[in-house]
Amino acid sequence: MGADAARRGRPRTAPPADETTEHVYLDHAATTPLDPRVRHAMEPYLNGSFGNPSSLHWYGRKAHDALEAGRAEVAALIGADSRDIVFTGSGTEADNLAILGTAARFEGASHVVTSAFEHPAVLEPFRLLERRGVEVTYVAPDPDGIVRPHALAAALRPNTRLVSIMAANNVLGTIQPVNELAQLVREHGGLFHTDAVQAAGKLPIDVGRTPIDLLSFSAHKLHGPKGVGALYVRGGVGLEPLVLGGGQERGLRSATENVAGVIGFGQACLLARAEMGEESARLVGFRERVLETLTAEIENIYLIGHPYQRLPGYLCFGFSGQEADAIRLLFALDDAGIAVSSGSACSAHNAGEPSYVLTALGFDTIRARGSLRISMGRFTSDADVDRLLDALPAAARSLTSIASHAGFGVRS
Ligand code: PLP
Repeated sequence: MGADAARRGRPRTAPPADETTEHVYLDHAATTPLDPRVRHAMEPYLNGSFGNPSSLHWYGRKAHDALEAGRAEVAALIGADSRDIVFTGSGTEADNLAILGTAARFEGASHVVTSAFEHPAVLEPFRLLERRGVEVTYVAPDPDGIVRPHALAAALRPNTRLVSIMAANNVLGTIQPVNELAQLVREHGGLFHTDAVQAAGKLPIDVGRTPIDLLSFSAHKLHGPKGVGALYVRGGVGLEPLVLGGGQERGLRSATENVAGVIGFGQACLLARAEMGEESARLVGFRERVLETLTAEIENIYLIGHPYQRLPGYLCFGFSGQEADAIRLLFALDDAGIAVSSGSACSAHNAGEPSYVLTALGFDTIRARGSLRISMGRFTSDADVDRLLDALPAAARSLTSIASHAGFGVRS
């Protein structure tokens, strides 16, 4: 069933939430609201300071200086040298550039490795390489949503040139042991890329201490604007551009730079760096409260993924015997004005199909049919969590009462 069909067929459990309803946003893994401080920093570059950074006059110099100030903040979030940051139009583009850009320099028979539960922005470039004759190994994560170093070690071959393993999974929220994985690849002599689109700004990352060669991240996942991403490229790593033209971004990504976007990205990185400790403690508190309450109140609920090796505000649940109904819970919550996800925004097109992420964990086709992802962020409040904890058990109860599965339900 496609996303449109899923929306048309959605059951109504309550009058639909409208513009006057106070909405609760618990889908920060899909995207995050722009922080007002980020918007404020961007405003001058949407107004009077509109120059092209390549121009030689005053307007151009001002835009160029702003671009470099933004680059310095973006680099600082991951402990990088700002000369090693390439701005792109998205996290997707950064992933494509890392994988296809390095592969363009492979010589001879080459082998590459990724995991089976990567975001499509990584999986699709690997599939393209496969079609071009590169050998690809897809490493399976363990059932708790973690790619273990021994699994990667078993996949490496003498001609393994590139390994790409995400820093945190977007559906489950599970955090991967990137330090150990990167170390293994460095010792082996290949390049290590990590898709840190979900992790950046939520977990400390320091490319000065970890042998990561390439790292992708994206502004809109950390309360910055949409349409701007970055690829960290360790000095000395060679890659070919995907976008050719005027030679901006050291020739690695031609196009007039998105100056306001980069300023917003930089400000978002600065805020994330300053507030990460406090914010993550608060979100872990919310996460634990949601987990405890829901597991106490909903009999057939189960957590998917490692219990604590996960991003601070992220939870992913299955409903035993009612896996395929997760989408109906999503709609019931939407009717109550609460936004969550049935996995990943990018997989809404495949609603109802078994999830490839859950299949990668070894779930059978029944259990892989559905999950509910709750992802909290900077502006999530106690009151938002209260609303969720009221609405979700009630929604599960109403589904169970009409479901034919006896024996599953909500604890009274
Ligand atoms: N990688 C991961 C892990 C993601 O979660 C996403 C977006 O959901 C992307 C890549 C793509 O990033 P963008 O939306 O900036 O293209």
